Amino acid sequence: MRRYVIVGLGVAGVAAISELRARDKSAEIIMVGDEKHGFYSRPGLAYHLTGELPEKQLMIFSKKDWQSLNIRFANAHVTSLDPHRHQLVLGAEDRLTYDRLLLSTGSTAAPINVLGSNLPQVVKLDNLEDTRRILALTRRVKTAVVVGGGILSLELVEGLHSNGVSVHYFLRGGRYWPNILDEIESHMVEHNLEKMGIHLHFHTEIAEIMGQRGSVNAVRTTTGEILPCGMVCVGVGVRSRMELAKEASLAVDKGILVNDHLLTSNADIFAAGDVAQVVDPVSGKSYIDTLWIPAREKGVTAAINMDGGNQKYNRTIATNVLRLAGIMTTIIGAVGSGVDEDLVSVARGSSETWLQLPNSIALESNLDVNHMRLMIGERTLLGAIVMGDQKLSIPLQELIAGETDISSIRDQLQPGAALGQILMDFWANGKGQGIKQ
Ligand SMILES: Cc1cc2nc3c(=O)[nH]c(=O)nc-3n(C[C@H](O)[C@H](O)[C@H](O)COP(=O)(O)OP(=O)(O)OC[C@H]3O[C@@H](n4cnc5c(N)ncnc54)[C@H](O)[C@@H]3O)c2cc1C
Repeated sequence: MRRYVIVGLGVAGVAAISELRARDKSAEIIMVGDEKHGFYSRPGLAYHLTGELPEKQLMIFSKKDWQSLNIRFANAHVTSLDPHRHQLVLGAEDRLTYDRLLLSTGSTAAPINVLGSNLPQVVKLDNLEDTRRILALTRRVKTAVVVGGGILSLELVEGLHSNGVSVHYFLRGGRYWPNILDEIESHMVEHNLEKMGIHLHFHTEIAEIMGQRGSVNAVRTTTGEILPCGMVCVGVGVRSRMELAKEASLAVDKGILVNDHLLTSNADIFAAGDVAQVVDPVSGKSYIDTLWIPAREKGVTAAINMDGGNQKYNRTIATNVLRLAGIMTTIIGAVGSGVDEDLVSVARGSSETWLQLPNSIALESNLDVNHMRLMIGERTLLGAIVMGDQKLSIPLQELIAGETDISSIRDQLQPGAALGQILMDFWANGKGQGIKQ
């Protein structure tokens, strides 16, 4: 009987054990994870912070679901991996051998390295424990500083604001998320933040977090300003958790390098989820995604191949439907303009693909509070941002992911045209006729 060991109780690991069990009723499956609160929705943490989602609703699996999987679970941190002996060390000394191993160890918030960053009121938002800690702090802290670009820092801003904390939001550049959003889009977000009463500080970074009797009481900015506050929230990006892979001398880059079957450089070790950096065999390119659905899909594909299958991971177009300062927003495919200078690494809930500036024409349409930007390639749409009204979110996801040939409407997509209506008609008519090429 083959023994499968999965390290990391996240969506990738859970998708993998579910798939393994569905394929092999008798295999020995062992999940090792250091998460003490079990399996829950990480994207849901932001909504828990704002009070919209109770903690109970974050829990995805019931006791019955776990029982039906019939696996062994070890709540432990894996401290060492010896690929020659096919052995893991759990905690101080417990040893566990495997036949096939999956590393689905996810990613963790990147720290900021300034004086005072080790004070207890300097927080990140990685997991449920962090959320509990932030919520506890909001009961006694009146003013907070949030630092970072991207989605997560904004979720921190909104979470703190919902709990009655006065928020100062520090941005390194001159506008919000400049490498993904264009000026109009950044200003839509900033406008809403200002309406909420958030204090925006552009071109501002923390030089030092100041403390008194072991607690945060102010920050000093790089411009020398002292701003009193009781906590500092850091959302400057995430880093892959590659410690075990590095120790085992597996090939790594920004994540654990895997081929299109999610196999690492070791024949018995696979990787999936945020930590897996999939190399495309044709282009040689690889991107890091920190997105829930791709993590789950990687977990399923890895499991099929661990079980002896021959399944390629088909990376879907990176998409996220999210809320930016109260504005429902869908981001699909390549929409950006290069490396994100506001972050030290890729942002949580996003994709490196978004940063790409495609070879395309950008067209925008603005109607009241609604906004859409299309990245139009030679024959296909390469990316899109939809803010506000989400009617076009699904049509655009389908047209972009399906690489639909838009030649028949290409000439109509001009500045000033009713872009939304043209695309909606095209999608509605073409869907039934199988326009996907
Ligand atoms: C606040 C927040 C908001 C988000 N918003 C969105 C969103 O809007 N949309 C979206 O698509 N995605 C979002 N994400 C990202 C999404 O949740 C992740 O892409 C996804 O959870 C990754 O799953 P994973 O299984 O790869 O890793 P994880 O969920 O990170 O799980 C990995 C697990 O492995 C454990 N582990 C690591 N090392 C070890 C070890 N040595 N021993 C034992 N256990 C170990 C970790 O503790 C963790 O429990 C968000 C994430 C957060 C935190």
